[in-house]
Amino acid sequence: MARHDIIVVGAGMVGSAIGWGLARLGCRVLMLDGADESERAARANFGLVWGQSKGDTLPEYARWTREAIQLWPEFQAELFEEAGISCGFIGSGGLHICLSDAELEDRRALFARMGKAEGGNTLDLRILDRHEVADLIPGIGPDVVGAGFCGQDGHVSPHGLLMAMHRAFVRRGGDVLSSCPVLGIEHNGTTWTVQTKDGLFRSPMLVLAAGTGNKVLGAKLGVDIPVFGLKGQILVSERVSPRLNFPTHKVRQTEVGTILLGDSKEPDAGSDDRATVDVMRDIAGRCLRMLPWLAEINLVRAWGGIRSMTADSYPIYDVYPDHPGLFSACCHSGVTLAPIHAMRLAPLIAAANLTPQLAAMSARRFDVQTN
Ligand SMILES: Cc1cc2nc3c(=O)[nH]c(=O)nc-3n(C[C@H](O)[C@H](O)[C@H](O)COP(=O)(O)OP(=O)(O)OC[C@H]3O[C@@H](n4cnc5c(N)ncnc54)[C@H](O)[C@@H]3O)c2cc1C
Repeated sequence: MARHDIIVVGAGMVGSAIGWGLARLGCRVLMLDGADESERAARANFGLVWGQSKGDTLPEYARWTREAIQLWPEFQAELFEEAGISCGFIGSGGLHICLSDAELEDRRALFARMGKAEGGNTLDLRILDRHEVADLIPGIGPDVVGAGFCGQDGHVSPHGLLMAMHRAFVRRGGDVLSSCPVLGIEHNGTTWTVQTKDGLFRSPMLVLAAGTGNKVLGAKLGVDIPVFGLKGQILVSERVSPRLNFPTHKVRQTEVGTILLGDSKEPDAGSDDRATVDVMRDIAGRCLRMLPWLAEINLVRAWGGIRSMTADSYPIYDVYPDHPGLFSACCHSGVTLAPIHAMRLAPLIAAANLTPQLAAMSARRFDVQTN
């Protein structure tokens, strides 16, 4: 007998949001998470809630991201009420700082495509010149030529977010087992059985939300989930008094005063998530060109993490006609999208019906046309 309606494999950013979203609907949910040393982008990310660069060639994703951002205040309030933990969301705007005219022109062209993708800009997207950037962020370097600004962009505490989702999930009656990686999966036509070192668990529905682990889990079922790892590194400063009123795509000040400098994109790192001196030097060098006063602040640590990435950088949400009750979800912006995963995707999964909007984000988009 299955004690749970749904098993969610992976309790990172995506699995936790879906898990809480399902528990919120009254489903009996079990979340199974990996071992301590497993890849966890949930604990390594930069914490941006970012819409200004998302979906210029896929309108469904642009709208999905925009709706996620709009949901953030309500999502945070509900999580706080249930878990008593703040996600620290502030959504009063964010800047992509440009260090050359070519970069600024690229941003301008991106914003024009974003406007088209959305059928008119519904995000407050603006190109700022150097003086306008200086008005928002004091102490910019001489190389700064301008910035892309989005009035709805913002940032959160990723740890607060993850803890809040876990606690709210448990308070809703959800079960979570950590250090309990799924080793095998079987289906007998009506029930999914997952095998772990702690035994077998059964449910009629199964959600694969294991980040880069989805590739391995899908392969066990003969399903291709084309996700791969993309390493990123982040540097962290000592705590300093408030200096940055707005997050930028490479530098932000957290709610506790540390300044984060980020974040690299390293496709060939495999699963090696260690910080490396050459990349740290590059990150620091670029950030110093943006904000030379960073040189006065001590860096205290650095870390690396592995993003789950797809070939076109858009998410994968799938159902599988040959595997009734099976769903997969993975994306590279799991912080930004957490509210929509909980409040829109989870109800669609519970109803076993991913809408046409989500069909555009199926991995079937990668299938090669043969005629
Ligand atoms: C450096 C960096 C910066 C980033 N910055 C941002 C940002 O600013 N904004 C943003 O929105 N996103 C950002 N991200 C991306 C964001 O962190 C990810 O999109 C998000 O964490 C993905 O969530 P996930 O649940 O798919 O994967 P993860 O958070 O990695 O979680 C996957 C979970 O699955 C578990 N798992 C794996 N295999 C199994 C198995 N067999 N059985 C059970 N459990 C398993 C793992 O233990 C892990 O806990 C960043 C990521 C990195 C690395």
